[in-house]
Amino acid sequence: MNEKKNIAILGSTGSIGTQALDVVRANPDSFSVEVLTGHGNADLLIKQAMEFNPNTVVIADESKYQYVKDALQPHDIKVFAGNKAIAEVVQMENIEMVLTAIVGYAGLESTISAIKAGKQIALANKETLVVAGELVTKIAKEHGVNLYPVDSEHSAIFQCLAGEFHNPIEKIYLTASGGPFRGKDKQFLSSVKKEQALKHPNWDMGAKITIDSASLMNKGLEVIEAKWLFGLKHEQIDVIVHPQSIIHSIVQFTDGSMKAQMGLPDMKLPIQYALAYPQRIKSDFPRFDFMKYPQLTFEPADTKTFRNLALAFEAMNRCGNAACILNAANEVAVEAFLKDKIGFLEMSDVVEKCLETVTFVSNPGYEDYVATDKETRRVAIELIKNLSKQKTHP
Ligand code: NDP
Ligand code: MG
Repeated sequence: MNEKKNIAILGSTGSIGTQALDVVRANPDSFSVEVLTGHGNADLLIKQAMEFNPNTVVIADESKYQYVKDALQPHDIKVFAGNKAIAEVVQMENIEMVLTAIVGYAGLESTISAIKAGKQIALANKETLVVAGELVTKIAKEHGVNLYPVDSEHSAIFQCLAGEFHNPIEKIYLTASGGPFRGKDKQFLSSVKKEQALKHPNWDMGAKITIDSASLMNKGLEVIEAKWLFGLKHEQIDVIVHPQSIIHSIVQFTDGSMKAQMGLPDMKLPIQYALAYPQRIKSDFPRFDFMKYPQLTFEPADTKTFRNLALAFEAMNRCGNAACILNAANEVAVEAFLKDKIGFLEMSDVVEKCLETVTFVSNPGYEDYVATDKETRRVAIELIKNLSKQKTHP
């Protein structure tokens, strides 16, 4: 017997969201889509709703509500608008699992809301755990909710841990591709443009995470994500650059044995693993061919040039709200870089300055995270304004 799992896909119009719908499309007997949400891309959201016939859709950008509502009127699909509505609909009774694929801090509120309603979580939105990992994992435990990782590295660790849950981990190695600027120096990086940074060698992803991958902030966020997902101490997490992106991460157990999970870089696999867990569903994803990859190579991460990774470790070590500051500063910096307001290396300057100046809270609750995010954005925007002024009036 194979019952359909009822799922909500938050951020269905994005890179992870559309690939999740590819997985659903390929497995119509396994999944039923109950909720879809988008932000600005109303046309795609409407198209998806017409194909997958969910109970409810939410468009986060409230100015597009009427447009979506009119388009879906004949289809008996409920339409709501705004992020508050997303946080409400995830609690709908018939939803079993929520895929959190909204990008950034914007995904925090709906993830917490889904956990509080006891929904299982397929977690793509890593920022949720970076901002409020301690709180989110605590609430998940209280509500008996599992967080199934979608991020490929964390899915790899999770897959390596199958059957090993009582065996202590000595260490994990998160693999990093190194991004498009691997091996480059600061002089080169000082003049790179967004078009270069947006060209990832192995993965096709949304703009924010692609920039994060180029600056190694993505790996920094993933280190913090791993800490909370797997309950690790800081010294148990290491990063190794593996440019081919075939080994997605490695667990080293206390007997010294190492397990790695491998596969071609394709997010559909970890998405499907999280959605279908504990089953592995047959797929026609392209298979790995050893002869096409005669060498898998490894090198250390260059944290002197790519300071974001060092800053993320530093924020993790400081605990409290430091990682929340890191995340908010980075979101503002990435947006400014994408709008050509600051240079590539200045993104790290903004993050570093915010970590130095924003109010530190050692034992934060939800409201503290909200306040920290707000304060950091204000400080970061001010820093960016000053950096731009310096450029026009040196
Ligand atoms: P995208 O930018 O491609 O998609 C983001 C989604 O979130 C879109 O549906 C977008 O709507 C929606 N969205 C954006 N802003 C808001 C907002 N303020 N409120 C509500 N919804 C919003 O991102 P990705 O799919 O690449 O990434 C999603 C998450 O998954 C991120 O946290 C990322 O770190 C993580 N992840 C992504 C991977 C990847 O391969 N892409 C790999 C591992 C993790 P719209 O497009 O309609 O505006
Ligand atoms: Mg990843």
